[in-house]
Amino acid sequence: MDTISRRNFIETATVAAAASVVGADATKQETAPKPANRIILLPKLPFAENSLAPIISAETIGFHYGKHHTGYVAALNAMLPGSKYAGMTLEEIIVASKADNAAPFFNNAAQIWNHTFYWDSLAPAGSGGKPSKALGEVLSKTFGSVENCARLLAESANKRFGCGWAWLLVRDNKLVIESTSNADTPLTEKGVTPLLCVDVWEHAYYLDYQNRRAAYTQAVTEKLLNWGKASFRYAKRSV
Ligand code: MN
Repeated sequence: MDTISRRNFIETATVAAAASVVGADATKQETAPKPANRIILLPKLPFAENSLAPIISAETIGFHYGKHHTGYVAALNAMLPGSKYAGMTLEEIIVASKADNAAPFFNNAAQIWNHTFYWDSLAPAGSGGKPSKALGEVLSKTFGSVENCARLLAESANKRFGCGWAWLLVRDNKLVIESTSNADTPLTEKGVTPLLCVDVWEHAYYLDYQNRRAAYTQAVTEKLLNWGKASFRYAKRSV
């Protein structure tokens, strides 16, 4: 696919994704026949590109969402036709390609999912809400306080060598903070519900913070985490 076709393709996919949000019915999606020509859509960014500034600039979001996230979607869709993964949902591709050790499929699919989850982990400063009573209680019990949980999440992100992700997860009904390398994602694990994540690939912060990863993780975890969505995920966790 040449550059122009790819751009048109992504724009079409983005419009389709935005449209599909209205009246989306997950149950129907699960039972619908799987068309071999299914394409993986780029979800719409849940906030304006400039709404996380000055902690994350519009320029960073523009490249991160517009080039990196979009690029993973384009790369995966270019590989799917004729492959054993054609027709699968994104989650099915991630699980199957991980089991097959099919790195090009897994890396692109997992990065699509991780980035969508990252955008959903963030909210403009002051609008991410607070943990629900249930999540707040278990956060305090596990980490001492919400603030300390945020600090430990940043610390986990800082310690990740090279590229990867830091996660707040429910694992076996306990809250834990972990990090994953490169495209690895907790989605493939049983008994795990991710609540929040922080992207610690350099493209997530280099335009704004250069090599100061700790400044980025501190600002994001203190000011931009979407505790409202984390609380929703906590309530819906698999137990
Ligand atoms: Mn990224």
